[in-house]
Amino acid sequence: MGNIAERKELIATVRKMNALGINQGTSGNASVRIDGGYLITPSGMAYDDLTPEDIVEMSLDGEAAGHRKPSSEWRFHQDLLKARPDFGAVVHTHGKAVMTLACQRLELPPFHYMIAVAGGNTIRCADYATFGTQALSDNALRAIEGRKACLLANHGLLAGEASLSRALSLAVEVETLCETYWRILQIGEPVLLSEAEMDAVREQFKKGYGMPQGGN
Ligand code: 13P
Ligand code: ZN
Repeated sequence: MGNIAERKELIATVRKMNALGINQGTSGNASVRIDGGYLITPSGMAYDDLTPEDIVEMSLDGEAAGHRKPSSEWRFHQDLLKARPDFGAVVHTHGKAVMTLACQRLELPPFHYMIAVAGGNTIRCADYATFGTQALSDNALRAIEGRKACLLANHGLLAGEASLSRALSLAVEVETLCETYWRILQIGEPVLLSEAEMDAVREQFKKGYGMPQGGN
């Protein structure tokens, strides 16, 4: 069994998802790219019980190695890692705020400058499809195009980044943005940032703020 460090980091990541309150139980999953494929969490196992042997090694053709079943969502992890060379890791969460907006099938508009960390001026919501299906993967890939995160209708969040730690940070940020948008909608409509204002945010990030560049 290789890639011990990556297996441990994957387990630490899904445990943190639950500890941070952006996911719970056996919901959600995560993957990390390795040479020739990727590692993914097993399906339906409590994160506290996971050991490195429980992590499933996958080829980019969907062949699994190991004694556990891969996450039921291996298709969108695999399709994303294939389609997006900029992604070294993918996390999927069922956070309360994310689910609240995903069940309304809402797209997040540029109500706050941190929307830019997800790669665009909006965070889209993918069309609904049953969990674990190729249709869900197809819908998710469309919604995340040109972005690093999207909501999944009546389901949760998908976030990809260069590393597991960055993908987890992005998931935390989007959960917070969703909670904030939900609060805003209770008292009225937000004042949205213009395209020029969002362009200026991106320029400012490029000057060296930690999130879109650097770090791990
Ligand atoms: P798995 O336990 O199979 O990863 O499924 C959890 C989930 O979130 C399905 O969408
Ligand atoms: Zn899910």
